[in-house]
Amino acid sequence: MTSERPMADDPQARVLKGIAASPGVAIGAATVIDSDHLPVPRHHVDPEDVEGQIERLRNAIEGSRQELEEIRARLGEDAPADYRLILDAHLMMHSDELLIDIATHAIRDECISAEWAVERAVHSIKRHLEQAPDPYFRDRAIDVQHVGKRIHSQLVGRVSSLPPMGQDAVLVIDDLHPADAAHLLDAPVAALVTGLGSATSHTAILARTLEIPSVVGVPNVTQLVGSGDRLVVDGLHGRVVLSPDSATCQEAEARGRRYQLFTRNLRAHGVHSVTLDGVPVEVLANVDLPSEVTLAVREQAPGIGLYRTEFLFMNRQEPPSEDEQLGVYRDIARVAGSRPVVLRSFDIGGDNLTIEKGALGLNPALGLRAIRLALARPEMFRTQLRAVLKAATAGDLRLLFPLVSGLTELRRAKQELARARAELEEEGAAIGSVHVGAMIELPAAVVMADRIAAEVDFMAVGTNDLVQYSLAVDRTNPQVAYLADALDPAVLRQLDRVISVGKDADRPVSMCGDMATDPVALPIVAGLGFRSVSVPIAAMPLAREILRAIDTRQARGVVDRALACDTALDVRVLVRKSFPQLDPVWQEAGIDD
Ligand code: PEP
Ligand code: MG
Repeated sequence: MTSERPMADDPQARVLKGIAASPGVAIGAATVIDSDHLPVPRHHVDPEDVEGQIERLRNAIEGSRQELEEIRARLGEDAPADYRLILDAHLMMHSDELLIDIATHAIRDECISAEWAVERAVHSIKRHLEQAPDPYFRDRAIDVQHVGKRIHSQLVGRVSSLPPMGQDAVLVIDDLHPADAAHLLDAPVAALVTGLGSATSHTAILARTLEIPSVVGVPNVTQLVGSGDRLVVDGLHGRVVLSPDSATCQEAEARGRRYQLFTRNLRAHGVHSVTLDGVPVEVLANVDLPSEVTLAVREQAPGIGLYRTEFLFMNRQEPPSEDEQLGVYRDIARVAGSRPVVLRSFDIGGDNLTIEKGALGLNPALGLRAIRLALARPEMFRTQLRAVLKAATAGDLRLLFPLVSGLTELRRAKQELARARAELEEEGAAIGSVHVGAMIELPAAVVMADRIAAEVDFMAVGTNDLVQYSLAVDRTNPQVAYLADALDPAVLRQLDRVISVGKDADRPVSMCGDMATDPVALPIVAGLGFRSVSVPIAAMPLAREILRAIDTRQARGVVDRALACDTALDVRVLVRKSFPQLDPVWQEAGIDD
């Protein structure tokens, strides 16, 4: 455990270290939720809903069984025998009469929800097994519990199970799924602390969008913190103080106020982002939720550089219909007016999985994610493409394909787009023209960027994934998060290539990954030659301030030296030394020396 005791006069106080994920400082009482033990929706149902609950139960058991079958099929015969045996046992339990019978009877006799009934059945079978004299049967109790969890997550997995929390609550949870995090929009909390995740996990990105001070990747946090415990969450430095004394609280309040003042002052410095040598670098807005487009316009963003459409697909049983998507995209285009809006086709999968549970795979980041999932679900993809094409009559909508690994995928995606267009033309529907872009976020795409550039109108660099896939660091794993630095020379060299390919091919290249949100990395981004970056709305004032304070010619000189550095740390030290005028800004933004 990473913790230290800061205050001699308070034996209870303890500092838990994690990763700064969303800036700001907040104090509140913890609501601790163990992701494995999300509340069970225990409720009674009307007698006429009984058959519906039994149907849900059957579907959930079948869904869970199929998931296990897929896992077993993928494992093949080479997998360890023990593991295969456990899977077989779990599969057998899915046709176990006892479990199904107990649950079905509970629904019928007591009019209770399918979730509650599964919980009952699991408890009852577990109790019997735990009392068995044979240790083999006693050991099976845990298997029953695991199977129960699987069925339960089939029943509730696609809807949020977060309990209601007050605005001054600090949500403490092992792992917050982005789908659950999206619920925080309607019911914001004071701060968020998670056991897993890194600064670029999708949950951290959403926390920044929602401006919730957050620390992620705090080891064992749900074991160390109890519900009701008072916490200071320092999202600037990645620290959580447990049971702070009054002096610590006062200090934290002052730091939180100072940060708010700092961001307010930045806003007062204006919206232009022209460097000292007169080079304009546009700062666009990243948007996760349609409602943010209004905020982006208010913040005078010259456009939306990335709209992550996948958030529309979360927390629901079925993907949104063409009409629903059309309504959303058209509204966005109208609100944005003449400003360009880059709609990214849904990036579902990886740590962003919602609707497509079955597509998870054993290694989701390398599996059926983003454009791959879209191509594997042509109906779902076509529905989105049709909605985008129709909505494009209302404004300057552009379409961006995520996680393109090469020409095969890109061409297939473009074929789908052409097909959707032909269909709509045949139907006589009004459609707009859309520029098509590819995200450059895989090393393979960097290598093939010249060929990709020849077949798209623009490219957008996703550094979050480029770091993940270049350095083999799982975005959700705090244990390797220390490696995840976009300033790593291995990443910088790739960015240098993409910029030069863009120039040669005369294709605009923007950066919408969080490297542009990192105040230390941004001078390097400008020095590399990026003239367009897209950051969360809350990060726009700071990005503009930094760009206004640098000279791109000097920044290019620093980049040349950075490209020759050995490590990310060397680059960080170099940047810190090269732009002393940024020291006060960095300090206020929470960058430690
Ligand atoms: C990225 O990978 O940098 C990116 C912008 O996409 P996302 O964070 O949504 O994966
Ligand atoms: Mg990405």
